[in-house]
Order: sequence, then C-alpha cells, then structure tokens
Amino acid sequence: MNYALVTGGSRGIGRAVCVKLAEMGYPVIVNYSSNKAAAEETKTLVEAQGVACELLPFNVSDAVAVDRAMDTWQESHPDDHISVLINNAGICKDSLMVFMSDEQWHSVIDTSLDGFFFVTRKLLKGMISKRKGRIVNIVSLSGLKGIAGQTNYSAAKAAVIGATKALAQEVAARKITVNAVAPGFITTDMTKDLDEEALKKTIPSGRFGLPDEVADLVAFLASEKAAYITGEVISINGGLYT
Ligand code: NDP
Repeated sequence: MNYALVTGGSRGIGRAVCVKLAEMGYPVIVNYSSNKAAAEETKTLVEAQGVACELLPFNVSDAVAVDRAMDTWQESHPDDHISVLINNAGICKDSLMVFMSDEQWHSVIDTSLDGFFFVTRKLLKGMISKRKGRIVNIVSLSGLKGIAGQTNYSAAKAAVIGATKALAQEVAARKITVNAVAPGFITTDMTKDLDEEALKKTIPSGRFGLPDEVADLVAFLASEKAAYITGEVISINGGLYT
C-alpha cells in the first residue's frame, strides 16, 4: 500500500492537505509536534474519507527523532511504502534582524530547512528503490521576495527552494518529482494575529487564501497527472507577487 506523510498535518494547511490526499485514496500519516487534540481532529476528517490515518508525532528538526519514528513505522508496515511526502511543518518567529535572537534565527531555519532535509533523506531510499515518489515542499512568498521582519523565515524558505531545484534533478530519472508550493497569506493559526483588513488591501484578489485552495494545488502535484512537473516553485498568493 502507498501512504502519504504530511509533516505538520495537525492544523492549518497541513490538515487541509491530509484531507485532500485522503480524498485521492491515500492512507495518511499525520505528523505533528505537540498538539495531539488538533491531530486527532485531522484524523477524524481523514477517516471520514474512508481511508486509514495514523498519527506520528515527532520534531522534524531532530534527526534522531525523525529516524526513530520512520524506522518504527516501517518495521510495523513491512509491505507498505511512503510514496508521497509533503514537507509542510513550519514556524515563524518574526523580528527585525537587528533585534533577532539566536533562538529566533535557528528555530525557524531548523524547522523548515533541517526538517525538510531529515525527513526527505530518510524517505528517499525507499522512493528511489521503488521508482515512485512525490515530494512537495511548502515554502512561502517570503522565500521568493523576502519580507521585512522575516529574515530568518525568508532565508529558511529560500533555502528549501534551492534544495527543491537541486534534488529534483538528482531523482527525476527515478520517477520522483520534487516541487515547492509558495503560498501568500493563508488563513491559519500562523496568520491569525496579522492585520488582515490592512493586508488584504495589498492583495490583488482582495482576500487571504484558504488552506483548501493550497491543498488542491498540493494534491495535483502529488498526483500521477503531475509526472512531468519537477523542480518548480508554484505560487498561490492571489496575485500578490509573480
Ligand atoms: P500552522 O501554524 O497552522 O500549523 C503548523 C503545523 O506545523 C502544525 O501542525 C504544527 O504542529 C507543525 N509543526 C511546527 N513545528 C513542528 C516541528 N518542529 N515538527 C513537526 N511539526 C511541527 O501553520 P500553517 O498551516 O499556516 O503553515 C503550514 C506551512 O505553510 C508552514 O511551512 C508555513 O511556513 C507555510 N506557509 C504558511 C502561510 C500562511 O499564510 N499561513 C504562508 C506561506 C507559507 P502542532 O500542531 O503540534 O504545533
């Protein structure tokens, strides 16, 4: 059986992606950091689509924890394969750089960039040997244009964009695609403290996007139909930046 793993699947964009992949028929592994109650809600939504759902909490930026979790999962699923990986877990800790602490810098970069590296490296061998894989990295408008107050987050997301393009070339011949999705402002916990009224005036579409809208794009990139798209960064931002 082919499974999909969504990091940071307990809430927001990750949850919407879990449900969309479930609609496509994938059994879903929901990774999260600490919010078990939210992860349980995602599980209920995924199971409502008639597929299996497993919760797999671990910190994506902890290499040992990633290896342990994935090894344990594989031992209990000897005949199963994770063929879809959505690297979605991410945090932001905004500050002007002049005031930014080491912790703000490292935690944001470790979650997005190290998280991408540790989880993807772990699953690549299986994808390469099965010659089947879809990897979608959730990056950000911030990683494309840079946003003041987010040097840590912009750097993390820009780095993942670079890695996406490089890895896509490494594994294309093995029928594995690697793409990035770069959302603008999407209504989730991450953006709940922003001044939406003011910000939406700057967005040509005049509104924030919905997690579901991002999930539809991710689901397409994860589908068989997207076999010839790789190394791409696709924006979904209501026209805010092209
Ligand atoms: P949320 O804050 O709503 O959810 C974040 C998710 O990531 C949660 O599931 C959280 O788990 C998980 N997570 C955080 N740190 C870790 C970690 N170290 N290990 C494992 N899981 C972790 O975020 P969004 O849904 O808004 O964002 C999802 C992705 O989309 C992020 O990468 C973000 O940078 C990106 N993005 C979001 C935009 C937006 O406007 N919302 C715009 C552009 C990009 P738990 O519930 O346990 O805390």
